[in-house]
Amino acid sequence: MQKQVVILFGQPGAGKGTQAEILSGKTGYFHLESSKAIENCFQNESPEKVFEIDGEKFQVSDEKIRWETGLLNSPPFVVNLIAEKIKELAKENKSIIFSGSPRTVYEAEKEMPLLKELYGLENIKFVMLEITPEVTIQRNSHRRICELVRHSILFSPETENLSVCPLDGSDLIKRKGLDDVEVIKKRLEVFKAETFPVIEIIERHGLVANKVNGEQTVSDVHKDILKAIQ
Ligand SMILES: [Zn+2]
Repeated sequence: MQKQVVILFGQPGAGKGTQAEILSGKTGYFHLESSKAIENCFQNESPEKVFEIDGEKFQVSDEKIRWETGLLNSPPFVVNLIAEKIKELAKENKSIIFSGSPRTVYEAEKEMPLLKELYGLENIKFVMLEITPEVTIQRNSHRRICELVRHSILFSPETENLSVCPLDGSDLIKRKGLDDVEVIKKRLEVFKAETFPVIEIIERHGLVANKVNGEQTVSDVHKDILKAIQ
């Protein structure tokens, strides 16, 4: 089968992570999550470590502070982590699902040519999960993750009373800082200013946005995504 790239796009809480996990479980596509790549970097690298990218320096401890206060991480720092992973996956002939990248114009400008070169334009699908700001705030302030693998549990009537992860049984916890109401509001502002313009860049690279109503049940959203990527 031809290897494929699926870019799931949407506001925080649109269900990108949840849908990417389901799609990945069904198709075996690799779920390339920037937040996980960033968290891995924080866990594995010393806070004093400095990444030198295109002549600029980025210290891990500075990036960690940005992360914890709801600011976007420095785009070159993020793109460097993502681009390395894309090259590795392409070499292994693996399909990829993105659930939080590209999240800046800079990221899109760097990643789109790389993806087109390694996967071919016709094999890249762009899916937009649409939800209202009210739903965004409600879902994010109730979001939990599992302690073991950090599976994201999207808030919904079906998951409201869960106390352990349905996949591995570990405890569900709240992400410190990231899902507090004030931080969420900040993330929404940042999304509007810095992530929304990404759509234009992706379209300029020849992709068409497939819109999916993200307020449906998880299973209906999944069905619509499958239709969109065929
Ligand atoms: Zn889990």
